Amino acid sequence: MTISANEQLLRGHIVEHGRSLFDRGLAAGSSGNISVRLQDGWLLTPTDSCLGQLDPARLSKLNWEGKLLSGDAPSKEAFLHRAIYEERADANAIVHLHATYSAAVSCMAGLDPENCMPPLTAYFVMKVGRLPLVPYHRPGDVALADAIRALARTHSALLLANHGPIVSAATLEAAIYTIEELEETAKLFLLLRDAPVRTLTDAQIAELQSVFAPKH
Ligand code: ZN
Repeated sequence: MTISANEQLLRGHIVEHGRSLFDRGLAAGSSGNISVRLQDGWLLTPTDSCLGQLDPARLSKLNWEGKLLSGDAPSKEAFLHRAIYEERADANAIVHLHATYSAAVSCMAGLDPENCMPPLTAYFVMKVGRLPLVPYHRPGDVALADAIRALARTHSALLLANHGPIVSAATLEAAIYTIEELEETAKLFLLLRDAPVRTLTDAQIAELQSVFAPKH
């Protein structure tokens, strides 16, 4: 099978970003997965693979029916990625992590399911916007795909309850930056949990939206 120069490049980017996430403790063990859309299908990190030690030649290449075209068996969370790609034509890359702070927030009681974290900083508002909570499903439960589909139409970042965040974007780099911003904001949210907090006001959020036209 011939591999285009673009696909070769994207394979390298997945490996580099995977290693970076692992090295900084954002993807422990074999948790987390990364995918990108290709002209002729999509690439996903393999099942039970460590993001710190990916092999570009062994990434799972799939078609849109879910068939494995080449590489190792795909992540068991492949159906989450596929559901988002099918709902969002603007999504060319997806990153899902079990990163500590956002996973911690995903376990908190009393979250607003329409927007789990307050607008603490301008960058969170610009990169993430509103962050809905997807109800808990056991690993591998395909009903989670339906829950994700409904929210993915209007949100590029989602928090899976008692699990972790999943983010889509036009490029892999943008998806990585957004999920990192989300993780940092989760850290702030937890640090400030017991402190009186001044969040951005509706007017300040509207100003950001008009100046920077954030993606939803
Ligand atoms: Zn997961």
